[in-house]
Amino acid sequence: MRKTALTPMTTQCRLPQEQTDQMRDVLRRVFGYDRFRGQQEAIISRVLAGGDAFVLMPTGGGKSLCYQLPALLRPGVGVVISPLIALMQDQVSALRQLGARAAFLNSTLTPAEAQRVEQQVEAGALDLLYVAPERLLTDRTLALLARSSLALFAIDEAHCVSQWGHDFREEYLFLAVLHERFPGIPRLALTATADALTRREIVEKLRLEDAELFVAGFDRPNIRYRVEQKTNTKAQLRYFLESEHPRDAGIVYCLSRRKTEEIADWLAAEGWNALPYHAGMDAAARQRNQDRFQREDGVIIVATIAFGMGIDKPDVRFVAHLDIPKSVEAYYQETGRAGRDGLPADAWMLYGLGDVALMRRILAQSTADEAHKRIETLKLNALLGYCETAGCRRQVLLTYFGEERPEPCGNCDTCLTPVETWDGTLAARKALFCARQTGQRFGVTYLCDVLTGTLNPRVAGLGHDRVSAFGGGKELSGKEWASVFRQLVALGYLTVDGDGHGTLQITPAGMQVLRGQDAVPLRKDPLPRRERKRRRAMLALESTTTPADAALWEALRELRKELAQEAELPPFVIFHDSTLRELTLARPQTLEELKEISGLGDRKVQRYGPALLEVLRGFSENHRPASNE
Ligand code: ADP
Ligand code: ZN
Repeated sequence: MRKTALTPMTTQCRLPQEQTDQMRDVLRRVFGYDRFRGQQEAIISRVLAGGDAFVLMPTGGGKSLCYQLPALLRPGVGVVISPLIALMQDQVSALRQLGARAAFLNSTLTPAEAQRVEQQVEAGALDLLYVAPERLLTDRTLALLARSSLALFAIDEAHCVSQWGHDFREEYLFLAVLHERFPGIPRLALTATADALTRREIVEKLRLEDAELFVAGFDRPNIRYRVEQKTNTKAQLRYFLESEHPRDAGIVYCLSRRKTEEIADWLAAEGWNALPYHAGMDAAARQRNQDRFQREDGVIIVATIAFGMGIDKPDVRFVAHLDIPKSVEAYYQETGRAGRDGLPADAWMLYGLGDVALMRRILAQSTADEAHKRIETLKLNALLGYCETAGCRRQVLLTYFGEERPEPCGNCDTCLTPVETWDGTLAARKALFCARQTGQRFGVTYLCDVLTGTLNPRVAGLGHDRVSAFGGGKELSGKEWASVFRQLVALGYLTVDGDGHGTLQITPAGMQVLRGQDAVPLRKDPLPRRERKRRRAMLALESTTTPADAALWEALRELRKELAQEAELPPFVIFHDSTLRELTLARPQTLEELKEISGLGDRKVQRYGPALLEVLRGFSENHRPASNE
């Protein structure tokens, strides 16, 4: 897009109203969107006025627009620093689809290609330049930028500066050089990681003391949060996929590489389009699977947390956790990869006592110092609190991120099917008493047997059929006792030893319960509901749609696939699902009407409008099929 096509740039004396109009105009004409989301407008205004900004926004919140739009409006090139080389190609392609002049500089370019990009930068022929941090920090690139006209710097994934985080990149520590060498150029730092420690590190290390902080709503209302008791992982996963996501793209997270392989193989054998991804695979195979996930429709990736940063696919319909994540932050970031397009998506987790034992063991074996371990333990406990809550899950999550949400959300499992609670004080005391009477040397299965009076050889052999706890809990089933023990662990009354045997030991807080000093409300685990209504196989369409809508939806997807293949781009770079959905419901019949659809800017209407109209007209009741046009 030529900047001269817009009103001439006089940043200093531009009237605010005029600027607002310009922003809206570009939003509409270039990006095809009606309105700004959340704080986008405020952030962009800040940057257009020449100020720095620190943007905390959840994944899918719309961060890119915050630097892309001002880069189009300000004179000079907007420099985007990103560690995700693999994504630059797609981002640049997507921008070019919108008619923006974009390029990237990274190690995948030949010297000749890189030189051409450098010439474009210097000639002022680019709106946006994506560059890897190591590339940016070379003398050559810094000198190039010093000779060129610059619109802004956007430091994406700014949490990579944090030495505490798992995405740490050493080069990020040197990005303060931008502040020193280019003091007049506005800088934006952007991240989806929100905890206070990381925030402080970003401000300090990137020298963002003068940046205005924008914390966007962390709520992701289209994501439905659910946690199920783990009984049979594979059967539960199969049921979830078959009944709710038979054709959708999604991510299945597992803790270990081995399990990742196992689940991926099993799913593939069951006929699903599933691929593994973990750090133990060779780089080429990993990249291949990531590319297929990104580019094909309906791929399920089974991955460890190694898979994540840099997944920029808007139509991920579910994120399934087969093991509990490390912390609430990790969980939020992982689930945040679902439903970036704003359409309904599921965050679905299986959780059981075995997970807790495993996490404790990993913590116990970690070589980190005590302070670090203590933080990790607190984080794990917060996550367990989330898993066990009888209240709204979204409220728990948002409270964790410091946001208030007075009303329950209505879109999580506990809101949709309220969990009953019961006074578990007596049961808790019996359970703790049983653990104590047997010497705090046993795991949950054994203790449940003792409580229910199940005489197996082991119990008999150790003489535990003669203690008073034996058979003292016949009012509950073994399964119900297991639920009590799990909750006592989550509540911190028992700890699971990190020894690998799942030995349960009583904590000081547990001693208080045992002495009858504390009441213990517990939740009743809902039964797994097999009869849950099957969702439509058709992706992302409301249940009110007609068969004709479904057929049109399929036809539009088919067209998108063809266009994507022709352009050698992932389908979502051509149109998002949300755009297809609007087309299905609104059925525009003219190029002008197409412009009303979210996601269709001038350039896309020009390029793809005729093909879209051809498909749409074939489905219109008021128009004859366009046979001779
Ligand atoms: P983030 O980088 O914060 O994870 P993105 O920048 O990828 O999020 O944006 C997420 C999705 O929201 C993208 O599909 C983007 O096109 C869309 N989006 C961003 N801003 C708007 C807006 N104002 N109106 C409609 N859709 C938007
Ligand atoms: Zn809720």
